[in-house]
Amino acid sequence: MACPRCGGLLDVMYRWDRHPVPSSLRAFEAKWSARHDPHSFSGVWRFHELLPFAPLEKCVTAGEGQTLLLPSGSVAAYVGLRPGRLFLQYEGMNPSGSFKDNGMSAAFTHAHVVGAKRAACASTGNTSASLALYCSVTGLMKAVIFVGSGKIAYGKLSQALDYGALTVQIAGDFDDAMARVKEVASQLGIYLVNSVNPFRLEGQKTIMFRVLEALRWEVPDWIVVPGGNLGNSSAFGKAFWELYQLGLIPRIPRLAIINATGANTLFELVQGRGMRWNGGQVDRRTVDHFYHEMDSQGRRASTIASAIEINRPVNLAKCLRALEICRGVVREVTDQEILDAKAQVGAGGLGCEPASAASVAGTRKLVSEGVIDKDERVVCVLTGHQLKDPDATVAYHTTDQELFNRVLGKRGVRRATYANRAVVVPNDLDEIVKAIHLYS
Ligand SMILES: *Cc1c(COP(=O)(O)O)cnc(C)c1O
Repeated sequence: MACPRCGGLLDVMYRWDRHPVPSSLRAFEAKWSARHDPHSFSGVWRFHELLPFAPLEKCVTAGEGQTLLLPSGSVAAYVGLRPGRLFLQYEGMNPSGSFKDNGMSAAFTHAHVVGAKRAACASTGNTSASLALYCSVTGLMKAVIFVGSGKIAYGKLSQALDYGALTVQIAGDFDDAMARVKEVASQLGIYLVNSVNPFRLEGQKTIMFRVLEALRWEVPDWIVVPGGNLGNSSAFGKAFWELYQLGLIPRIPRLAIINATGANTLFELVQGRGMRWNGGQVDRRTVDHFYHEMDSQGRRASTIASAIEINRPVNLAKCLRALEICRGVVREVTDQEILDAKAQVGAGGLGCEPASAASVAGTRKLVSEGVIDKDERVVCVLTGHQLKDPDATVAYHTTDQELFNRVLGKRGVRRATYANRAVVVPNDLDEIVKAIHLYS
């Protein structure tokens, strides 16, 4: 899935003159009254006119995209925004519990259209959970997934196993697994659904369509998203560019992409070394030099936010384009900031996995820097469900210091600032009643 000439990733472009697009986004509201039809029900395919790469009757759905844009007063206060200004786009409601289902329904559709019998991916967990789910629900293909050893949260691994995917655990991390799956896919002719796959990004555009839909088609000021392989941020940029070109939105929101400090390639390149899209002439030398430096220092991606524990983001160039389109910024946040933000999301909303909370931690940083004004309308994308990584949550709230140290202390997390600790009481009615009086 690369350009035979330059080796760059492919991109999906449409001849809009051949694909009729509604003249107003409000036209999509007609789909709401047709929810008995699985394609109208789908949060991806109800926007089919905006990603018309396959005929609708061929499009595969597992009920993805039934998501919620939740305003949160307490999270707004935490990040320093005025009440009513912060929205959480909760992608944990997808069938496999992360935003990956948006892209998977699209890539899986393309795989189906070209007659694939097997599909593969390397994954920090959620891509494999999603692929495995589409294979099991549709019965159309066999899933082959590659995971790094000890690098995948149990919530995610359990899904791949339960859905019956062939799970190949290799001795290495995500970047190693990614390199291998590409070789294996090309050698065995297996369809590759990693976000090198341009159709994934087409499906992920719909996350932004649903954000607009929930805001009654008003454009927010900021979209804030965690950055791992940079598929989501790339897709968002493309979505807004296309909507703007088609005259469906009057302006483009700004984009903030948040890295973890332990996996901060994008931050280093953009904020540290001034890398830009540069009209498509991306300076590969700076990237190669940076990767060489990383390798010679033996630096590996390391963060509690395993979904963004990636040092060689495959969509780097497309992401630079998105930053250009959306006048974007990049920030990094520590595991401490991520876990504190995650606790705030849990206490004031729907909960999320660690990587997702990077968006909230990043927003807090950008508000404190004055880059985001406290009056602006900000959408934080909560990429994955809270139950994806219960270990991190329990270790944060635990009373067991040894557990805290083992899971979080080694990552530089010093304190569980917003811990909600269990109250330990003897198995005695009076003591229990006393404790409830004392703590409530
Ligand atoms: C995949 C994933 C990310 C990273 O998204 P990219 O598109 O790879 O940047 C963030 N959070 C969660 C929960 C994910 O599954």
